[in-house]
Formats: sequence, C-alpha cells, structure tokens
Amino acid sequence: MLKQEELKNLEQEILADKSLPLQTNLVFGEGSPDAEVVFIGEAPGMNEDIQKRPFVGRGGQLLRKNIRAISWKEENVYITNIVKRRPPDNRDPLPEEIEAYKPYLARQIEILSPKVIVTLGRFSMNYFLPAAKITKDQGKIFKLYKYCVVPMFHPAAALRNPEVMRAFEATFGKLPEITEKCKTLPEPGLKKEGSKPASLF
Ligand code: URA
Repeated sequence: MLKQEELKNLEQEILADKSLPLQTNLVFGEGSPDAEVVFIGEAPGMNEDIQKRPFVGRGGQLLRKNIRAISWKEENVYITNIVKRRPPDNRDPLPEEIEAYKPYLARQIEILSPKVIVTLGRFSMNYFLPAAKITKDQGKIFKLYKYCVVPMFHPAAALRNPEVMRAFEATFGKLPEITEKCKTLPEPGLKKEGSKPASLF
C-alpha cells in the first residue's frame, strides 16, 4: 500500500477510536509521506484546532519560516504532534493523553520511516529521550532505533526569549548538515545502549 494511503487509513482509525481522550478536532499531521525529516511538537493549540493543521499559529509560522530559510520546502518535510488533539486551555498534555495517542504516533512514524525526527520542545524530546535536557542537548544527534532524533527548542519558547531564538535558528541552520550526517550513521544494534525501540513503541 502507498504510504499516503496508509496514513489516510491511520487517520480514519484515530477518528473512529472513541476511547481516545480529548474531544477537539483531530490534527493528524501534514507534509510529504516520503519526508526524510519529521518535526514533532507537543499538541495542537487553538489555531491548529480550528484549521485542523499542525503548527499554524505564531510558533508555527516561525517554524515554517525557518524551514524555508534553509531552502527546504514545507511540503517536503512532515509536521505533526505527540498528542493529536488540543488539550483544553492550552494546558500541557497529561501522561494518560500521551499514552493514549502513543500507539498511533508510533505507527505514523513507522509509516513515514524518516531519517531524522526533530523534536520541538521538552515534551516531545522527553517522549523519545527521557533523560535528555533541552539546554544541554538541543542540536545534538541521538541515534534511537533506526532514527536520528535531534532535539530543538520549541518555536514558541524562541518567540519568548531572544537567547532561545538564537539557539533555535543556529540549530535550524545545521539541519541540512545533520540530515546528511544521519544518512551515513549505522543503525545501532537493538541491544546497544541508546537504542530502545520499546520506548518508541
Ligand atoms: N505547539 C505545538 O506543540 N504544536 C502545534 O501544532 C502548535 C503549537
């Protein structure tokens, strides 16, 4: 089956799953099914809920501007979130909400099979790398299972703090180089430290 169809089917499955928490619109994700790089945020906000698209508010505009600034196209990457519906009042997603959406995110990533997963913000980073610290580890490459995970600051945090903005933009500038490097890294053996597929799925 084509990746596009698999993604469509997965989206339909999520829509049909009435056991999932949060009642707002489904914001499944968008971009190329063949993307080498997938950006993963935390959860949709108000604008995303209204438009049913990820990262379309102020933070999203910054993200998309930076994608274009490195001569990539928004439609060639893939953008999504850990939790696929908006938590009320923009609160952080609860552990049980993350847990509930986890199998769907895992399948979405497996269908996409990107080279690089860029996590946006602490929540998304700690989903993949529970021990990582955003200030110390943003911009680094972590090999996890067959993926390179690259933590970055959340664009909304960059909008709030000029120092974070500088780091966000500097790391963004390195993404093309990081992506090329990731293509050359060997897949770690499943038993080696740092490759824990169980934490992904
Ligand atoms: N913040 C996120 O983490 N995701 C979005 O889609 C929008 C804002």
